[in-house]
Amino acid sequence: MTNTVKSSNLGYPRLGEHREWKKLLESYWQGKIDEAQFNETAKKLRLINLKKQIEFGLDIVPVADNSNYDHVLDTIAAFNLIPTRFGSYDRPLTLDEYFAVARGNKDNVAADMTKWFNINYHYTVPEFDNTTPRLLENRWLKYWQEAKDELDINGKPVIVGPVTLIKLGKLRGEYVSASSDINQLLEQILPLYGQVFKELQAAGVTWIQLDEPTLVKVADEADVEPYRRATEYLNEVAPQLNIELQTYFDSIDPYQAVTKLPVQAIGLDFVHGHGENFDNIRKFGFPEDKILAAGIIDGHNVWTANLQEKANFAEELRTLAPKLWLQPSNTLLHVPITKKYETKASPELFGGLAFADEKVQELVALTKKLNGDDVTAIFEQNAAALEALNSSQARNNKVVQEAIQHLSQERFERDSKYAERSKKQQVSLHLPLLPTTTIGSFPQSADVRAKRAAWRKGELSDEQYNDFIESETKRWIQLQEDIDLDVLVHGEFERTDMVEYFGQKLAGFFATQNGWVQSYGSRGVRPPVIFGDVDYVEPITVKESAFAQAQTNKPVKGMLTAPLTIINWSFVRDDIPRATVQNQIALSLRQEVINLEKAGIKIIQVDEPALREGLPLKQRNWQDYLDEAIYSFKITTTGVRDETQIHTHMCYSDFEDIISTISGLDADVISIETSRSHGEIISAFEDAHYDKQIGLGVYDIHSPRIPSVAEIADNIRRGLKVIDHNQFWVNPDCGLKTRNEKQTLEALQNLEDARNLVFSEI
Ligand code: GLN
Ligand code: ZN
Repeated sequence: MTNTVKSSNLGYPRLGEHREWKKLLESYWQGKIDEAQFNETAKKLRLINLKKQIEFGLDIVPVADNSNYDHVLDTIAAFNLIPTRFGSYDRPLTLDEYFAVARGNKDNVAADMTKWFNINYHYTVPEFDNTTPRLLENRWLKYWQEAKDELDINGKPVIVGPVTLIKLGKLRGEYVSASSDINQLLEQILPLYGQVFKELQAAGVTWIQLDEPTLVKVADEADVEPYRRATEYLNEVAPQLNIELQTYFDSIDPYQAVTKLPVQAIGLDFVHGHGENFDNIRKFGFPEDKILAAGIIDGHNVWTANLQEKANFAEELRTLAPKLWLQPSNTLLHVPITKKYETKASPELFGGLAFADEKVQELVALTKKLNGDDVTAIFEQNAAALEALNSSQARNNKVVQEAIQHLSQERFERDSKYAERSKKQQVSLHLPLLPTTTIGSFPQSADVRAKRAAWRKGELSDEQYNDFIESETKRWIQLQEDIDLDVLVHGEFERTDMVEYFGQKLAGFFATQNGWVQSYGSRGVRPPVIFGDVDYVEPITVKESAFAQAQTNKPVKGMLTAPLTIINWSFVRDDIPRATVQNQIALSLRQEVINLEKAGIKIIQVDEPALREGLPLKQRNWQDYLDEAIYSFKITTTGVRDETQIHTHMCYSDFEDIISTISGLDADVISIETSRSHGEIISAFEDAHYDKQIGLGVYDIHSPRIPSVAEIADNIRRGLKVIDHNQFWVNPDCGLKTRNEKQTLEALQNLEDARNLVFSEI
């Protein structure tokens, strides 16, 4: 007799179909509602989310995956592990105390926030120094009970596992990684988890999902030890509570050690990680007594799955692991909620989209199929939808596809080596030593935003809006000339965002109406969807750049976003390799770069800020990723004459491990963020014998503080100790769109004065 297959989910988006959750948080912060009103609405939203999943027919429904801000923050708040500057408690935190940690208050800066693995979600970084672990509130029981009382379900509470919590946190300012630190912290906090588990068991909870995604970064069996210690302990203190040990975002290297852990179900990602989890199951088998919770639906992309293929795959899994649950590869928190509001999508595209709700329905259909139910109609509809999308014109652009096929026959290099072309550039640009410039954007003032909103609503005609953008550009060209900067920018007033804008101008992109995903706190992003072959249909930035250049005799930089950054901040079609999509974008941008040159633009900057954050979780996959980045950057930038100067910008300072990639881009000038960690980065460039030009960020734009001339001059002098003054540019460390006009002008004047001061010394 075969076991019944079950459908299970790992977590559901918080935002609400109409971003009710975001509005709830913000109205509380603005003092429009009180804590009681907040709690009442928050509960309504939690129940709506659960009810939908139940009505779709999901068997195992996650509970306590909700949050008032971030689930890591919830965990440390429940365990009295918040940074001690926010206090130590012996009762649950009030909402204000909780938000103070996330957002800071008048006495303390907010807790650090950083990227959750390689996803665009940010979690609150625990700081374990001097904390006194104590269970203040069993939120997992509370929300389980709520679901039980209100909806009569026995939900599956979701909890961040103890080892992952520790490894994602900091001790003495560094991420916890030494086993002695891990073990010591584990001994302190395991009893709290034990208490939570015991109370859940006593209440009649049958399953808990213990998220230990850091397991995908563990290379050696020996390092599985703390996870073994934790699961053994928890299994012992609450033997009737079944543990689903959940991993995601990649495959497990110490597969055998992990599958031996004393838990009742193991969740593995079969979408990401190059099929390695599947290879391991085939090679080593899967323990008979355990449930395989198989992540087979992509939890961080937006595409309809091929149900027949997934069903075949699940059948194969069942022969290897007869006790089977079907799940998304990770929590659905990272995809938008429902596609039903995407009324502007073409029918082909609409049919091919699956957001959270559609993914839950896919899981239910697949589960039915494996259990022998008749789902023919659903499967037929699914096959037809995919066929329609794949055979659509958008996915069959012959010109683009041929260009991709011919890539290997072409060589994407500049005409001459750097040493030679830099001389020609100097003749054409005649820049002074230590040239000054900025990174691209100028303040997106209230006026700029209001005008854009009015234009979008149709209250401002295209012409009126265009006139406004031009007058703003012109004004800022004058302001830059007044300061006497050497290389000017047009200010990026026409863009809201450095990816969205390009998506709007290139074929193959779709801008969703309601595809919001939580980035951090109440902040949502709406990544563009790349669904078709990407093609260049019209110039993207040429008009704005040429207009700006016409206002001045100084060179104005053209300003583009590089292919990898566009890819990393979008939902990318999954029917062809990502690298192919990236190269399609590169081929389009190549035309834009050539058109900018034709329009008289002598310097073109191609920004690649997402290069580092998108690095694969396993180091063995880095090289391919970096090679692809270099290749697409070169496709983009090598169509111009030697005289045209190519810049790139990256806004982070951890360069040590990717410095050769940066060299490989062969950009004439790179500007980087160094204002916050000067020393290491400069020595990285020194060690690499970097021979091209570098613009060091000489002040931090993230702060409203105006840096003094002396301070900027010091930063320049420090840079000049290791970088030759012939290679050195002076610029802020990132774009200025979040600063106001006054701050920007004062800071830039100080930058120019500091440059002149240091110049007089050499
Ligand atoms: N050119 C962009 C700007 O100045 C670069 C932004 C970024 O590095 N994230 O806004
Ligand atoms: Zn930047």
